[in-house]
Amino acid sequence: MQLDFFDIDTTPTVMEVTKISWSPSKIGTLKQCPRKFYYQYYGSKQSKAKFDENKERLRYLVALSNKSLVAGEIIHSVIATYFRKAKKGDPWTADRLTSFAISMLRASIQYSKDERAGIHNIHQYPPALLKEVFYGTMNDQEVFDEIAERLKISLGNFSDSELFTHLRQNGKREDSIIEGKCVYTLPDNIKIDGVIDIAFDYGDKFWIADWKTGKADQEETSLQLLSYALWATKQKGISKEAVVIEKAYLLDNKLETLEYSDEQLVRAKVRIIQDVDILRELHDFGIDGNFGAFTKCQQQRVCDLCPFQEVCEKSK
Ligand code: SF4
Repeated sequence: MQLDFFDIDTTPTVMEVTKISWSPSKIGTLKQCPRKFYYQYYGSKQSKAKFDENKERLRYLVALSNKSLVAGEIIHSVIATYFRKAKKGDPWTADRLTSFAISMLRASIQYSKDERAGIHNIHQYPPALLKEVFYGTMNDQEVFDEIAERLKISLGNFSDSELFTHLRQNGKREDSIIEGKCVYTLPDNIKIDGVIDIAFDYGDKFWIADWKTGKADQEETSLQLLSYALWATKQKGISKEAVVIEKAYLLDNKLETLEYSDEQLVRAKVRIIQDVDILRELHDFGIDGNFGAFTKCQQQRVCDLCPFQEVCEKSK
């Protein structure tokens, strides 16, 4: 079967090439630091790099997060809860959302302090483990204050900003997609794996929006969003002209519509295919635990946020 450039392969594959999954976070990690990518996707996995001598420690460290990521995780989780409740007729106020977020933050700080003290409590769903608290590189109260401030501003903007009214209103509808899987396959056994924060039909358009929890000028996420547009056009059969993509910056109270053309969608697909070529070349090194093939970025500002710093500093 001949597939054109926008096609997504929905036939059972008989190709022999290894199935490789592409996700925005996976490729983002590789571009940030190849060694971190190895630790994250091979070294810390039970079934890969089986003879990595740091396996046990990497499996523990992979749970470490940092204050920016934890703020983002809590905000996404609280917003998803808002929509779940709103769909049942119980939309939470900004105060209630913030207080729920703060309780999650407190649980995360306490859990991280306990782990630092060697107290390993069993949780069915463990709170986030904060690197800054676990290693004591920042004062516990300062970590709390910094994240709490971010939660309050972001959730306040989510609840009250007129910029996000259409997202709040349409996200409450029964048929809206909240934290929906965006999974499809491109030719050559390429699996695209993402999560859409919010999507819905509104007017004669299909809207996809991504909650951004960092500063607007620090995020380069167009490829991620274009991969969602590809999903909507082929998987849901929506015309390219009808797909609207937005980035909702909660901290900065800013909404950006991503303008894109046929050409940009084609370019996005080419970028993904090129990314996958690199992932495929590295795959066997990762499976074999050959971490030396993955260079260290050694950029202090990246390393400071890396969960694997402890193992990395001791390795070649
Ligand atoms: S500590 Fe730095 S160099 Fe090492 S894996 Fe992490 S980001 Fe990469």
